[in-house]
Amino acid sequence: MTTAINAPQPAVAAVPGTVTCPACRAKVTSAPIERWTAAEAANFFVVPSRNADRNARCSAALAKLWNDRPCEVYECNACGLGFGWPHLSGSNEFYAITHEQADYPPFRWEYPQAAQHAIAQFPAGGLVLDVGAGHGNFSKQLPAGWSYYAVESTEVMRQRIEQRGHKTFTSLEHAADAHPNAFSFIVLFQVLEHVADFDGMLAILRRLAAPGAVLAMSMPYGPEIARRVAVATCPDMPPNHINRWTPPAVAAAVARAGFKLESHRVQPPQVRNVLYTAYLRTIAQAARQPRSLAGRWYSVQNKKARIALAPPLGVLQLLRMAPRLRSAALSANFLTFSRAV
Ligand SMILES: [Zn+2]
Repeated sequence: MTTAINAPQPAVAAVPGTVTCPACRAKVTSAPIERWTAAEAANFFVVPSRNADRNARCSAALAKLWNDRPCEVYECNACGLGFGWPHLSGSNEFYAITHEQADYPPFRWEYPQAAQHAIAQFPAGGLVLDVGAGHGNFSKQLPAGWSYYAVESTEVMRQRIEQRGHKTFTSLEHAADAHPNAFSFIVLFQVLEHVADFDGMLAILRRLAAPGAVLAMSMPYGPEIARRVAVATCPDMPPNHINRWTPPAVAAAVARAGFKLESHRVQPPQVRNVLYTAYLRTIAQAARQPRSLAGRWYSVQNKKARIALAPPLGVLQLLRMAPRLRSAALSANFLTFSRAV
């Protein structure tokens, strides 16, 4: 996670009653596709049967963020961006509560994809900046000739990266002050879906970019999110994911900052995603129906017992998902490459 995602940003539209697409700035006149109260959203981030106290704290944090009103989700007819309204990133308080149960993935599909692109574009190497670096494992994909720098807000993660001999920054601003126009390859993996003020973030990234630099960004793939959500029955919920990106939306957003979207690729469906979808489905059922089989399983506090009970429940979920296994296997993830112009 990066520093920039944690600060709530002002809503884009100043005029009451108007909704403007944050990516392409078109007026959105269609009705919202979703509407969530703070309590409804909190039930998905922290299932109450697992931890009622944390659920209540999450609900209070969301009510504060959304000013005691529901959060709506709109879809832009022009560029396809799906976005929460009010268009606000999760607050520090929200992330502190939900991250009590979060983890950083050690590997992503886009790591080798992006590394191959970097090597092809810049055979001699250069400076690479990994924004929201987590474990910093993208560095392992790069050959000699590349100098790896990371922006990471979590101290534990930063220490791990530094122990491997890499330079880190606590924020993008610090990196931009220290190394303006320096980086030929900048990566943001799974960041932009969290950021309401992506204009501000992209502007700083442009300051960091060397002439002709490539900006590689991965994020959930908007057009596949709805299909996956329909099988998982687990919504993709603001304010964690405040943007559901599409290639035209990325093109519009990066263009304002001085980048040109050159290409994108969508992660192919993966068999193992079916298991993850089954897991999401179980959480969604536990949130909606605490007395269901899924709800009772999820409320078991002992982790070992939960793991032991998981296989039979998983088989049951797979049987229920059987007619839509292809949608369950969707990765709903894509990688974009933009050039500093
Ligand atoms: Zn738009």
